[in-house]
Amino acid sequence: MEEDCLFCKIGRREIPSELVYEDDDIFAFEDIHPQAPNHVLICPRKHLVMLGDAGAEDAEMLGRLQLVAAKIARERKLIEGYRTVVNNGRGAGQSVFHLHLHLLGGREFRWPPG
Ligand code: 5GP
Ligand code: ZN
Repeated sequence: MEEDCLFCKIGRREIPSELVYEDDDIFAFEDIHPQAPNHVLICPRKHLVMLGDAGAEDAEMLGRLQLVAAKIARERKLIEGYRTVVNNGRGAGQSVFHLHLHLLGGREFRWPPG
């Protein structure tokens, strides 16, 4: 937990968000600037700056981030397909330095991503 981290503050409900899921270890909320009709951010409560900082002790949590994404996608009936993305570092487009998984769905996606 980091005092000044935006996503830690959202997880502690010190900053409002549209929460869509939470449990003891993970919370998920609507992205403020959605890049698709469905755009949810899924975060561990544990403050990790980025994926590259995760260790073996985080393996279960990392898997659970994906499972929460799949659960939300099922609930939203994203049957045409959806994408989960982790931007690791500025060069990959990371702008908030608390590990998060993007769930994007509800439109067509191109490959390779930009
Ligand atoms: P990144 O670029 O780090 O992979 O993703 C950060 C995401 O956080 C962006 O998609 C951005 O729109 C979202 N975001 C930034 N600030 C806020 C905020 O205050 N509230 C919410 N709900 N999303 C935010
Ligand atoms: Zn944080």
